[in-house]
Amino acid sequence: MLQIYSKALYSTWVYYAPERILFDAGEGVSLTMSNKIYAIRYIFLTHGHIDHISGLWTIVNTRNNSMGDREKPLTVYYPKGNTAIEDWINFIKQANNDLRFEFNHIPVSAGEKVFLRQAGNFARYVVPFKVKHTSQDMSLGYSIIETRRRLKEEYRNLPEKEILELSKKLGSSNITEFYEKKILTISGDTFGIDPENARDSEILLHECTFLRSSDRKMNAHASLEEVLDIAKSAEVKKLILYHISSRYSGKIDRYLKNIKEANNFDIHYVDPEVVFTI
Ligand SMILES: [Zn+2]
Ligand SMILES: [Zn+2]
Repeated sequence: MLQIYSKALYSTWVYYAPERILFDAGEGVSLTMSNKIYAIRYIFLTHGHIDHISGLWTIVNTRNNSMGDREKPLTVYYPKGNTAIEDWINFIKQANNDLRFEFNHIPVSAGEKVFLRQAGNFARYVVPFKVKHTSQDMSLGYSIIETRRRLKEEYRNLPEKEILELSKKLGSSNITEFYEKKILTISGDTFGIDPENARDSEILLHECTFLRSSDRKMNAHASLEEVLDIAKSAEVKKLILYHISSRYSGKIDRYLKNIKEANNFDIHYVDPEVVFTI
């Protein structure tokens, strides 16, 4: 479902296969994903730092020159007002001025829904949210949200038989309600996010550049302690730590040793030297 490469300062990219979305496009993404890059439909960029965008040129160029299917459109979403990303996209378009596929780039702001699919009452969309990275670079995190139906609160504790009877009598649409379920929340580079942005998320992918809080010199990135508090307070099911500094390579398990048992959510981490899949 997820394929991730992430090493703070060098390269970060996250591929979410069910919706064919690439979050960020750090160096080496085409090399690692190889012919799977043709499957990408959307790219959501969190911010304009080089370790998150440098692989975009190769994706565009490889798709354009491949022998395979190059008709599929590719759409890049990025934080509105991020001129570093706009300059980079304009450069890529100039360098590949004979593009043979539709290449769209759309700025997005916090709270704006980007629909992935919609059929009847069902919808799945991406919602950007504000994060706290550097002041020079407009940055966003993203959640993938799905609309689902559940029993209205007043019926939830009734026995199944009664619910069935009520459903016959009142109609199932009258005893149920829509709600928004977060499937995946991605922080991008940031100091800890507001837990509300990850509330009840099935998966929270949060950057965790520093495993030891005392290693952090500026508040542009998150520390393990802070990320655990966010995951706990947001009541997520699964936490994946990424954007880990390579200074912890080979020692990450040691930092997480007692933490895994102390929390009631699954914890995984993306080793800076290894492509992670789940
Ligand atoms: Zn970064
Ligand atoms: Zn950054």
